[in-house]
Amino acid sequence: MMLKEKYLELVNLLNKAATAYYRDDSPFMSDEEYDRLYRELLQMESSDHLLKVPHSPTMRVGADIREGFKKVAHSEKMMSLDDAFEVGEVEAFFNRLDFAPAGGFVVEHKIDGLAVNIIYDHGRYLKAATRGDGETGEDVTENVATVKDIPLEIPEFSDLGMVEIRGEVYLPLKSFNELNEIRQKTGEKLFANPRNAAAGSLRQLDPKITASRGLRFFAYAITGLSALPVERQERLHSFLRALGFKTPQFEKIAKIEDVETIVSNIMNLRSSLPYDIDGLVVKLNSFEEQKRAGFLTKTPKWAIAYKLPAIEKTTKINEITWQVGRTGVVTPVAELEPVEIGGVVVKRATLHNIDEIRRKGLMVGDTVFVRRAGDVIPEVIAPVEQMRTGDEMTVLAPYNCPVCDSGLVKDEEKIALKCPNISCPAKVTGSIEHFASRKGLDIDGLGEKQVEFLHEKGWLNSVADIYRLKDHVMFLSAERGWGEKSVSKLIEAIEKSRTVKFQNLLYALGIDNVGEFLAGELAKNFTIDELMKADPGMLTAIEGIGATVARSINDFFSNPQNRAVLDRLLKELTITYPEKSDLTTKILSGKTFVITGELSQPREIFAEKIKDLGGKVSSSVSKKTDFVLAGENAGSKLSKAAELSVKVINEEEFRQLVLKKENEQ
Ligand code: NAD
Repeated sequence: MMLKEKYLELVNLLNKAATAYYRDDSPFMSDEEYDRLYRELLQMESSDHLLKVPHSPTMRVGADIREGFKKVAHSEKMMSLDDAFEVGEVEAFFNRLDFAPAGGFVVEHKIDGLAVNIIYDHGRYLKAATRGDGETGEDVTENVATVKDIPLEIPEFSDLGMVEIRGEVYLPLKSFNELNEIRQKTGEKLFANPRNAAAGSLRQLDPKITASRGLRFFAYAITGLSALPVERQERLHSFLRALGFKTPQFEKIAKIEDVETIVSNIMNLRSSLPYDIDGLVVKLNSFEEQKRAGFLTKTPKWAIAYKLPAIEKTTKINEITWQVGRTGVVTPVAELEPVEIGGVVVKRATLHNIDEIRRKGLMVGDTVFVRRAGDVIPEVIAPVEQMRTGDEMTVLAPYNCPVCDSGLVKDEEKIALKCPNISCPAKVTGSIEHFASRKGLDIDGLGEKQVEFLHEKGWLNSVADIYRLKDHVMFLSAERGWGEKSVSKLIEAIEKSRTVKFQNLLYALGIDNVGEFLAGELAKNFTIDELMKADPGMLTAIEGIGATVARSINDFFSNPQNRAVLDRLLKELTITYPEKSDLTTKILSGKTFVITGELSQPREIFAEKIKDLGGKVSSSVSKKTDFVLAGENAGSKLSKAAELSVKVINEEEFRQLVLKKENEQ
């Protein structure tokens, strides 16, 4: 293909993508892909100036506006930002200025939402518009008025004429997830990410819909004044906050090289923020210097966006496989074309159940948006329908168990398919693995691979068989991949597990709905004999146990197969019970902790200690939190704690607290 042809093809593709993204809130490529192609285009244009056409996306901001909205001409152009993917590019950007900035820099969160301009007339909210193509935006006055964080009256402006506030409307992650959950239930198309959800929610013809979405706003600029009330961007933050606006989090740096530290901090912090950021905006702090730097066609020369690695990409569903868990639930899993997201190669993602596949409208062969935020497991969000070729295939639910071929049954309550065969190898091995897991009997060396192998050999058909494995030691040592040493280590770990805390045993049994917490509660109130005989009334008398859990417990113990395994198992084990005196003298009882940051040992160790001492551990800071135990690089939980005046303690203070409480007893 000729260079010009290739260039024009790229221009068309990017323009189409921009229209889908900006005007229709329905992108068909990921931002990362768009950014890569955009850079390619820039490269082509800079190496051959004659190629450039006026409708190139490098010459335009945003896209045309959506039908149905009135147009608003901006008094001052709303710009885009140049972007950098490496710290060096940020430094090079500011080094290109023909003066050395003396006023330092401000580094703000780049909120992933959409820009709006709000006009106040003599302190009264008058009009609001989207960025549109930079010159003309869509009139979203009624919709923006419904957004929390936007004051409708600003008495400080009452003596002034028109004042314009610019900022980003965004959708917090919590509201985004809730919105998509509702849309999934009602069969509506899911939003690919919070940005599209924010843009879609704001640009509604009915403002009542906008009002219901939970949009928020961060202000970062002010225009329309003959003289600015402050001289620096950092001061503008305090000024805007005093007027009642929220402004994005920011840091001030003196030298541009210092941006590196901020970038590395933000990488750790990003996943704990309640909203999506796609980068940082580095701005000259002094307005005087901003003016001196000036503008290019569509971007300022005084600010640049440093883009963080994408948390959302597109990839292909190659196949859907069906996985059988320990409870027999059969779960569809999307086998993906491997894609790297946030430093991890994502190859598979669970799709939970067939209804979810239907509601999301996924087909085998689809290109899909996959999102992986922080440590959260990757999620397939939605198909890119524009990429369909016609070769995609509808996903059909299996009729038979993919492992044992038994006919599957539908679990009405959980909309799940279940394998009813209690001897299904997947169920047997799954429950043995769970039994041996760290929070259960904690048997080192009895993981998925080993359990499957031993089950195939016929030596491990139930959890009780674990304690008979020693009868097969000789044969086992001769097997490939085992060896005498690993076998004796395994047997040693099994012997050690014979003495077990009752709560660990209860968790290990894998009773439906009984997790770590309830196992602990049950252990405090019953012995195994009592629990096996307990009627629902006795169970529901315990706090936290409702009718469903009580039924699961009764069902478990009244199942003859379970009883047979338990009878054998209990002969092998010595169960220890929490001492009654322990229960009354728990020194941290009634205290709730949140653990955050990097501590000298894994957080779970601290959590266990707190629970052993009667305290509770919660994952988010609220008014009910008594202490935040914080290690190095703790993130937003600290600011939340400060906001709610919750006491923050470090590891040493935690130890002192425990000692003090012990002494008080
Ligand atoms: P941009 O989003 O990269 O940067 C400019 C915008 O940043 C501003 O308009 C403002 O809305 C926002 N912003 C957020 N926080 C800010 C702050 N603290 N200070 C100043 N501004 C702040 O630029 P753009 O031109 O709006 O869009 C380009 C980006 O959009 C691309 O990088 C691409 O990722 C995405 N895009 C994606 C597709 C797609 O098909 N997926 C298509 C077009 C554009």
